[in-house]
Amino acid sequence: MGQFRYAERTECMESSILREILKVTAQPGMISLAGGLPSPDAFPVELVKELCDKALTTWKDSILQYGTSEGFAPLLEALSDYLKNDRHIKSAETDRILVTNGSQQILDVVAKLFIMPGDKIAVESPTYLGALQAFNPYQPVYVDIATDEEGVIPESLEEVAVKEKPKFFYLVPTFQNPTGKSIGLERRKAIADIAIKHNLLIVEDDPYGAIRYRGEPLPPIASLASDNILYSGTFSKTFAPGLRLGFVTAPKDLISWMVKAKQSIDLHTSTFVQALAALYLGEGHMKRQIPKICELYRPKQEAMLVALKKHFPSSFFFTEPEGGMFVWAEGPEGFDSLAVYEKAIERKVAYVPGRFFYTRKEDGAGTMRLNFTNSTVEQINSAIATLGELFAEHL
Ligand code: PMP
Repeated sequence: MGQFRYAERTECMESSILREILKVTAQPGMISLAGGLPSPDAFPVELVKELCDKALTTWKDSILQYGTSEGFAPLLEALSDYLKNDRHIKSAETDRILVTNGSQQILDVVAKLFIMPGDKIAVESPTYLGALQAFNPYQPVYVDIATDEEGVIPESLEEVAVKEKPKFFYLVPTFQNPTGKSIGLERRKAIADIAIKHNLLIVEDDPYGAIRYRGEPLPPIASLASDNILYSGTFSKTFAPGLRLGFVTAPKDLISWMVKAKQSIDLHTSTFVQALAALYLGEGHMKRQIPKICELYRPKQEAMLVALKKHFPSSFFFTEPEGGMFVWAEGPEGFDSLAVYEKAIERKVAYVPGRFFYTRKEDGAGTMRLNFTNSTVEQINSAIATLGELFAEHL
């Protein structure tokens, strides 16, 4: 009990242990595979200077004024073209798009619109921790959808859709956070069919889809069943996360509810930042920048996969994603990644014990999330060698 009479929902807002874990990563000499930060080398600083100048010359004082909640018109136009042509979401007209303060805001708005205490919502197991943090204060009951090496198992989703009738299903189908897994085309079609057949709302979160190092691009599920899908995107991985710029396309009625919900939070997203993004996207800078970002991350990811094969005990499993920012590893039965975490910190390597990404605290004890984007190849090699040695001692 504090001094003030906080709402009951604050009981579900406990500050995450993960934040405590991330604090130690600031210690000198620590190699952190724990965070989820893009590399600052991926940020186009000089270009941003030019875009600031151009935006002010083009739109003058109007981009320093209040704007509409839906978003800055030139950015809505550029996003509509991008979503239709590059993401194949043909329904993405400007009146079906909302610009947000990061895609994290979309998760909060979705929770605000849909979740009453006790409502069921379906999530992947494991899932993005920030989504659980956005949903938790609204006190949902989570229903886990079973996953295998290819992510969500459609049969599990259909069973849950029929039996539990969740308000929505939240998933990250491409280069998932935390596992890096991607759902293949056939399963995407099956998930889209289930959404249509059972009128299930799907919240498709896609921050990493464009960050691909190998293999063929996969279409968003929203390109297969747009009337049942809320598709969430962000500039955090393709431009810069500090700009806090996300976007969502969904059926018109849902967008209009989201606009109302966002209005009461912050009126609208920064007009100035939207103007920068309108130029970045509309003038083709993003198309040129994404391959550069991939070139920067590809060798880091390859180094991590090679090091894992070389140094981790053979009883460990790990994912080999074709893109994104994370690799997921799992030790054999009885291995507890949280129990050895302190020892890893003593040896100056940090990772995220995987149990935090599960809705049920008894799950995921042997798992861990490893990030490769914000370390050098040398740091990755050294960190994975250290962890391999440590884990071998604790089997
Ligand atoms: N969804 C997922 C799956 C994420 O990993 C992240 C951030 N790492 C977000 C949403 C939120 O990103 P942002 O608010 O920066 O767009």
